[in-house]
Amino acid sequence: MQADRQQLETMDRGSMLHPFTNLRTFSGGQMPERVMTGGSGCHVYDADGRDLLDAFAGLYCVNIGYGRTEIADAIAEQARELAYYHAYAGTGSEPAIRLADRLKAMAPGKMSRVFFGMSGSDANETQAKIVWYYNNVRGRPEKKKIISRQRAYHGSTVVSGSMTGLPIFHKAFDLPVPQVKHTTTPHAYWNAEAGMSERDFARKCADDLDAMIQAEGPQTVAAFIGEPVLGTGGLIPPPEGYWQEIQKVLKKHDVLLIADEVVCGFGRLGTEFGCTMYGIEPDLVTVAKGLTSAYQPLSAAIVSAEIAEVLEQGSEQFGTFAHGYTYTAHPTCAAAGMANLDLLARENVTQHVADVGPYLNQRMQETFADDPLVGEVRGVGMLAALEFVADKANRKPFDPAIGVGKRISAAAFEENMIARAMPHGDILGFAPPLVLTRDEADDVVARTKRAVDRVRDELTREGITIAA
Ligand SMILES: *Cc1c(COP(=O)(O)O)cnc(C)c1O
Repeated sequence: MQADRQQLETMDRGSMLHPFTNLRTFSGGQMPERVMTGGSGCHVYDADGRDLLDAFAGLYCVNIGYGRTEIADAIAEQARELAYYHAYAGTGSEPAIRLADRLKAMAPGKMSRVFFGMSGSDANETQAKIVWYYNNVRGRPEKKKIISRQRAYHGSTVVSGSMTGLPIFHKAFDLPVPQVKHTTTPHAYWNAEAGMSERDFARKCADDLDAMIQAEGPQTVAAFIGEPVLGTGGLIPPPEGYWQEIQKVLKKHDVLLIADEVVCGFGRLGTEFGCTMYGIEPDLVTVAKGLTSAYQPLSAAIVSAEIAEVLEQGSEQFGTFAHGYTYTAHPTCAAAGMANLDLLARENVTQHVADVGPYLNQRMQETFADDPLVGEVRGVGMLAALEFVADKANRKPFDPAIGVGKRISAAAFEENMIARAMPHGDILGFAPPLVLTRDEADDVVARTKRAVDRVRDELTREGITIAA
């Protein structure tokens, strides 16, 4: 067993290019290798015998929790019946057809057609292409730009990676593409001016968007894309009134709204979708992660009746809608999606989140709001974040080279808990499986407290000052 473990590690370091990994330190053996082997509920197990409380649900995707045999059985059954057939040229399979029908009915807004992909990235890539196609059909070939936000996360392919507003996703990859622009991050903690109310700040964000659209020329701006709650950029709930103000600007300039529900969709906020919570009326909706609780790779780009109608008009001019993947509407993935949605509904998981999510956030507030190391405690539903600062009174961040967020995440791992060091800033993120219980929420907070205290002691010993 021990020999196998060593062999696996050597193989991994010598064979795989890992995503979001420092390639040099990984292949050189200076960073730990982790092999996950199993899971149950909110816990995952690794090859070194650890039992980890997964407070990030993989990558906020294992919403129903690990080890649900109902979904495994649905996948196996479909694989035995018909593991694969394509969806080209009007061909279907029962689980994909049923899932499309279900999704268009449950999605926010007035949705009428569903295009399946394998990832959030490819679904947002599809959304961009649909928006471009739509304006080509409508005879507005110059209306193509897509406005996203700084610190947004929409994926890492060429266009979705451009929509992402985090510099590390752009620098070495010649992104963003010229059609994609980024406006203000709706994060009052760093971006609001002193004395601004949340509502004032929301209006300022909308004014910034308005000014950008005017400067670019409204006739060139096709769509705005946003996560109802910014996810990977730092788990940032919008300021009061934000989405109302933004939607006014979009309406004024005839700009489509793409709601990226990849994280918020299917109950993460304690409402069916993020759009439900914030009164967002999207033209296009992207879902992925929570759709199958990650038991199979599956995403969907869902479009309104108005857009679907224009896409159909395009058939006269362009013939075949020439977009798609070998694995579009994959039967085993759709079967996993159906089984997952069945479980979410049967177990009232969204209502459970509406109960335990606020409890988790309240416990975080009670424990960390007055901590000098913690500048902001924030969250909504089953999302929470702690942002660490060097000087709380004057809102001064730490020198990024100290890596405070990463160190606290590593200390949490020593407490056998996974909480994610978010890629931008010193932020520890929590997005546990939606089935987290109140006792498990207490456990998350207790382990986090020990991790924060441990790193605080280390920093003090190293002579790094934390202003009281
Ligand atoms: C994860 C994520 C994506 C990208 O999904 P992948 O499946 O990783 O390609 C897109 N949008 C949001 C909001 C995400 O969190």
